[in-house]
Amino acid sequence: MSIIELDKQYVAGTYNRFPVEIVSGKGSLVWDSNGKEYVDMGTGIGVTAFGISDDVWKNAVMEQIERVQHMSNLYYTEPCALLAQKLCERTGMKKVFFSNSGAEANECAIKVARKYASEKRGADCYTIVTLNNSFHGRTLTTLSATGQEHYHELFQPLTPGFASVDAGDLEAIKALNESVKVAAVIIECVQGEGGVLPVSADFVKALREYCTQEDILLMIDEVQTGNGRTGQLYAYMNFEIEPDVVSTAKGLAGGLPLGATLIGEKAQNVLGFGDHGSTFGGNPVCCAAALSNINRIDDALLEDVRAKSKFLFETFADAPGIKSVSGMGLMIGLETVKPAGEIVAVCIEKGVLCLTAKDKVRLLPALNIPMDVLKRAADVIKAVCAE
Ligand code: PLP
Repeated sequence: MSIIELDKQYVAGTYNRFPVEIVSGKGSLVWDSNGKEYVDMGTGIGVTAFGISDDVWKNAVMEQIERVQHMSNLYYTEPCALLAQKLCERTGMKKVFFSNSGAEANECAIKVARKYASEKRGADCYTIVTLNNSFHGRTLTTLSATGQEHYHELFQPLTPGFASVDAGDLEAIKALNESVKVAAVIIECVQGEGGVLPVSADFVKALREYCTQEDILLMIDEVQTGNGRTGQLYAYMNFEIEPDVVSTAKGLAGGLPLGATLIGEKAQNVLGFGDHGSTFGGNPVCCAAALSNINRIDDALLEDVRAKSKFLFETFADAPGIKSVSGMGLMIGLETVKPAGEIVAVCIEKGVLCLTAKDKVRLLPALNIPMDVLKRAADVIKAVCAE
């Protein structure tokens, strides 16, 4: 049997895969089992932040594997402590809880909010407000937080205590806070799965003010937008606000599973012994990879991300077959005349791997994609959209 047939027979059918078997890669290029080359404009959905098998990343991982690949959280390990320090220094947050995925990073944020609010504002203060069209993960509780009904339908009953409002509608949050007590609001600064839609800076700033006034925790889901993706280390930094909790994953460890929940001053002491835990969370190899990544996301790299973003926005603006361009940094959505799925399928034939997000073609290239490779991919995408 071929790998594709084996996968179809034995792997749970939750993914509608393209008929491509990727066997290797280097940087922003990958090769399939027939030796065909592709430019990777999806990075495993924003994960391989510095590309495939990047040398700096690989050395950080290999050096740590030589020392110790795992220790339980009963003991201290250097990469975990150094990464937590680095994340706090770069964000102003005070404590970090490490997990293994974006959903788990959000799950921890939700637990922090529930405990903080019940201790400070009473057991009836538990409602967490999310935005319509958001995406926060696939565990039952993060599904409940996700403001898209179609994800909910097959999995009732969901975790109670979530309500969703439209992005930008602060009045709806205020109204909710008068009918139920709101413990926290969780938002993505750019809704990724929802179609690469940035929320407005005015809304985020006004929300920050309102949450501070009402002692509501403002939690930013940076699972997709984080770790340099939008041209700042974290997307909220584009809006000059300070959140109370930040969750991140995907690009953090560049291809190894690591989630992080960053907790700001207000709630820094909420989690105590036994309140939360994870066998693999804070794994030294994943943390060494993340430390290497975060150290590389400096001002020069972020400047370069913004320059490449400008190039992509300019390339696709007013291009034939493209109705609009949305997003921030190297997180870009193209509203195309032809269905996005069709565009992506033709791009694969022509050697470029892209993603979709709802009705958009979504591009999440490596932060360090070489300019000539980026141009090559952009030319293909532009031509396919125009056909
Ligand atoms: N939050 C956001 C904003 C995401 O985009 C995703 C995944 O796409 C998640 C959470 C869930 O992350 P994971 O699949 O690592 O659990």
